[in-house]
Amino acid sequence: MQFTTTYISLAQQLDQKDELGSFRDRFVIANPDLIYLDGNSLGRLPKPTVDLMSDAVERQWGERLIQGWNDGWVHQPTQLGEKIAQLIGAQPEEVLVCETNSINLFKLAVAALRLRPDRTKIVSDEFNFPSDLYILQGIIDMLGNQHQLELMRSDDSVSITPQAIESLINQDTALVSLTHVAFKSAFMYDIPRVTELAHKAGAMMIWDLCHSVGAVPLHLNEWGVDLAVGCTYKYLNGGPGSPAFIYIRRELQKELVSPLWGWFAAQKPFDFDLDFTPADDISRFRVGSIPVISMLAIEPALDIFIEAGMEKLRRKSIQQTEYLIYLAEQWLYPLGFTMGSPRDPEKRGSHISIRHPEAYRIIRALIEPASPAVRVIPDFRAPDNIRMGIAPLYNTFTDIHRALTRIREIVVNKEYEKFSEERLAVT
Ligand SMILES: *Cc1c(COP(=O)(O)O)cnc(C)c1O
Repeated sequence: MQFTTTYISLAQQLDQKDELGSFRDRFVIANPDLIYLDGNSLGRLPKPTVDLMSDAVERQWGERLIQGWNDGWVHQPTQLGEKIAQLIGAQPEEVLVCETNSINLFKLAVAALRLRPDRTKIVSDEFNFPSDLYILQGIIDMLGNQHQLELMRSDDSVSITPQAIESLINQDTALVSLTHVAFKSAFMYDIPRVTELAHKAGAMMIWDLCHSVGAVPLHLNEWGVDLAVGCTYKYLNGGPGSPAFIYIRRELQKELVSPLWGWFAAQKPFDFDLDFTPADDISRFRVGSIPVISMLAIEPALDIFIEAGMEKLRRKSIQQTEYLIYLAEQWLYPLGFTMGSPRDPEKRGSHISIRHPEAYRIIRALIEPASPAVRVIPDFRAPDNIRMGIAPLYNTFTDIHRALTRIREIVVNKEYEKFSEERLAVT
């Protein structure tokens, strides 16, 4: 897509023509002068979730009490799984909503390693989310340090080359564990290609979809994916700390054994049997009681995504990230910024990182402007990335224009100099 002018009128025109434009109204937008570009860390609150939450607390908990479990709470993990399945190209019985992404990766990775007892190598990459790497390191420690974790490296801190992937995956590899869209640069792997490579080498493969679910179309069945995890509080707008999900291809469900034998993983939890017999289906990856309120909050958001459709969403996301890059080229490169994301839209997700030595203080100035200007919320990812998440359901082209206008202003006027370099607890 070619853009020919940096005037805001173009952004306004693009918003008027936007086929998904009406979806913005489905979300609570308390302050229209707050430009929110962090939907990839914590998605906005959908309006229907507000009413559902008061029903959940006042009626479901307040009035129904313990009966709530049989009213439907108990089936939430699989029922929400059915809806997520529609967004990731899976069968309804292949997805379970439970725990956190880190715990789900732990369960799946241990189960997968058990199916490759003679192999000792685990392959990941230097772009992976640290929690994923720590979980893998912890598993190696727990299993008696029999495995080695090898990380594919990047030549340019933006992408991983096919050569880097091919050189590490081989006959010694028990497990390949990668994040589909890198949290920092937004680099996106070719899932079918890498999965085929791993499977051909005889390795198990787990994809982490935290930065892709709700941002890019996923076709896990068609792509031959066996195992995946992902979270619901980022692009999916499930709410702060909302439970994560697990995908296990149907044919593998009976073979994989979760290392956490909680009562809800059992075939008949309410028989209170003294010995554990795992459920036959994906429920064997459940553990204990679920956080019902957080769980309920996920559903309205999923319904919005199903209605909008991932293909349309992706089209808009590409148009918007392209527009952001165009404005950055015109305005910000001359001020010392560089691109921290792949230039090819087919090779990146729905966020863009731009880099600047003063990134941290620029972000502080964006979030806390001295005069009552437009306030912009992106986030900072060390060492020098300003990361901007584009959530096409509620971000407008005008948002992008206003955000980049502010970044330019802050740098030209050196507004960031008023801020300390000391990092806050959450950046
Ligand atoms: C956000 C994110 C996580 C977070 O894991 P939690 O257990 O939900 O805190 C893990 N992996 C990736 C790739 C992420 O983007």
